[in-house]
Amino acid sequence: MMAMSPVTVGSAARGNSMSGADGARTPEPRIVVISGPSGTGKTTIVRHLVSDAPVPLIKAVTATTRTPRTGEISGIDYHFMSVADFLEQRAAGAFLETAEVFASGTWYGTPRSEIERIRTAGAWALLEIDVRGALEIKRQYPGAVMIFLRAASLDEYEARLRGRGTETDEAIGHRLARMQQELHLADRYDYQVINDNVQRTVAEIGDILQRHEATHHA
Ligand code: 5GP
Repeated sequence: MMAMSPVTVGSAARGNSMSGADGARTPEPRIVVISGPSGTGKTTIVRHLVSDAPVPLIKAVTATTRTPRTGEISGIDYHFMSVADFLEQRAAGAFLETAEVFASGTWYGTPRSEIERIRTAGAWALLEIDVRGALEIKRQYPGAVMIFLRAASLDEYEARLRGRGTETDEAIGHRLARMQQELHLADRYDYQVINDNVQRTVAEIGDILQRHEATHHA
């Protein structure tokens, strides 16, 4: 049994009001969403973006009810929490979106408080979330920049997934099935980026963000 520290992911009110108490408009948060099937090298790209992006950028720590993998730290990789805590916070409106991924009873959710924390810090919030969650974020924040990351070839997804060695065959099967669904929704994204090389891919995403910074958030 893993240790579950009670974590409150935020108590922000429902809704995305852009007006402060004095009626002044709060700028819409700058959000970049990166999705892509397991095995696209997403985690590596995100890590590089956080340290090398040409715009201020902070990865939003999302919440999950799955068991931490070796080396994962609560509050850094995810807010790990029990299903009971997750559902309680969901009912209280603490999440912008939630998804039960892989039909396994594992919940994931984007805490409202994370977006607010990062907005206050004056940075882009980077959300690495699944396709359904991403489309929900875009519905709420039409200005969010949506990036779908693809592997250079289909075989690469499975090879990377197996190479990671963290998953059972059954879990890999679930992830591959999910990959097909996700690829199907890729054309709903603003950009599709092929991860053929880490440096090049990070530079391409950095360019996209700089362009948006210049045209939409100047
Ligand atoms: P993993 O268990 O491998 O860390 O993540 C599984 C999937 O959940 C990935 O596709 C990841 O992008 C997605 N995910 C992580 N956090 C969230 C979240 O807050 N909301 C949604 N909708 N998906 C998430």
